[in-house]
Amino acid sequence: MSHSLVTMSYIVATILFILSLSGLSNQETSRRGNYYGMIGMAIAILATALSGSVTAYGLLVAAIAIGATIGAKAALKVEMTQMPELVAIMHSLVGMAAVLVGYANFLDESIQLNGAEKTIHEMEIYIGVLIGAVTFSGSVIAFGKLSEKISGKPLLLPARHWLNLALLLLVIALGYWYMQQAATGGGMVPLLLMTLLALAFGVHMVMAIGGADMPVVVSMLNSYSGWAAAATGFMLNNDLLIVTGALVGSSGAILSYIMCKAMNRNFISVIAGGFGTVSGASAAVVEGEVQPIDAEETAALLLAAKNIMIIPGYGMAVAQAQHTVYEITKLLRDKGKKVGFGIHPVAGRMPGHMNVLLAEAKVPYDIVFEMDEINEDFPEVDVSIVIGANDIVNPSALDDPNSPIAGMPVLECWKSETTIVMKRSMASGYAGVGNPLFVMENTRMLFGDANAMLQAVLKALRG
Ligand code: NDP
Repeated sequence: MSHSLVTMSYIVATILFILSLSGLSNQETSRRGNYYGMIGMAIAILATALSGSVTAYGLLVAAIAIGATIGAKAALKVEMTQMPELVAIMHSLVGMAAVLVGYANFLDESIQLNGAEKTIHEMEIYIGVLIGAVTFSGSVIAFGKLSEKISGKPLLLPARHWLNLALLLLVIALGYWYMQQAATGGGMVPLLLMTLLALAFGVHMVMAIGGADMPVVVSMLNSYSGWAAAATGFMLNNDLLIVTGALVGSSGAILSYIMCKAMNRNFISVIAGGFGTVSGASAAVVEGEVQPIDAEETAALLLAAKNIMIIPGYGMAVAQAQHTVYEITKLLRDKGKKVGFGIHPVAGRMPGHMNVLLAEAKVPYDIVFEMDEINEDFPEVDVSIVIGANDIVNPSALDDPNSPIAGMPVLECWKSETTIVMKRSMASGYAGVGNPLFVMENTRMLFGDANAMLQAVLKALRG
């Protein structure tokens, strides 16, 4: 394929990636956004494979076949609730690729550069390996935390900020040493030492972050993986990889910022770690009487209500209750009731988790609202139904300054006339904090698996 045709294909792929991102920003256009992304990626792979820079086709086909088989198997097997773990482990592969490309470039004796060009190339290798190694080890730890193979509690080493600063200074000093050595054809020792330090930094950074901040971390690692890809693009002299990496890097950074804002968290303090174990902070102690309710009573409350708000959380995803939720919603709307969905930005285990499930169950988009759109409307709501949510409806976030989730905006469902909470027990949610909502006077607890209970409610509504 001629050079100009490759460039043209890269431009088309870039445009498709931009269209994909803009499509993904809205649930109504997200399916189209996905298709744009797939077509763009197919064009990018094809154009690169047919460009002059590929010669070993046998190896390329074998690598693609192995990678595609593993990817397809993982994607088919993974449950919706495990998606963030899959995303985290995928980011680690981008990080590892950047490290491997960096070392391959460093060892490639056919690259003969001089003067400023050589200096820039050496810097690209050093920075690419640095970002790649931090992304790799950070993502592996994020995977471990999200899949609960590692405790979600932040690991707070004494003087951890000083430790991070010392690591940063060491990386800069090693960079200086590396550049000196690389000028005369060496540099392997400082490069290896820096890689080890970067791996340690990635582990330490994510280990220090508490469970409640994991959404921000996943999105931040998404951003890092983009910058790692951009660095790889510089090393390989591939414009498309630079653009794509920058798109992923900047969109991940913007998403992290938006999420921090939504959780009333400061981005720097999230990265500095430790949320969830503020010294002297205590998890809200829940004291009071629990008022259980059964499916028939729930159905009666719903039939008497005019304005109903459904608040889905992680438990709805676990129970796969979205289809039953849809059936109930349809039945209630057919009876002339106003039914809406209140979605917290970090409900579930990844941004947009609930929107994806509700879209899958064909819940109309126009009754699904962001937290900010409906939080002030709860006093007019007759019945709020909380389905497998916990942290996102915890009033202690607002009124207990000692709560580990203090300051996080939550859905203020307790302001509605009655709140029905569906969950299996009194267990705490992801942040490990007790929830005073469960013992409030106007709260009723419907204990059991969300799908089983909703099926019973549906039966009672129909009966
Ligand atoms: P939580 O994890 O706070 O609570 C979920 C609740 O669902 C649990 O208390 C559990 O109680 C209940 N549950 C579990 N399985 C079932 C079931 N089969 N049927 C009924 N109930 C069930 O979820 P939220 O959505 O309220 O909050 C999300 C939390 O996850 C936040 O702390 C957020 O910071 C964090 N997080 C969010 C991410 C994101 O991007 N959205 C990513 C990573 C973390 P019980 O065991 O009693 O049934």
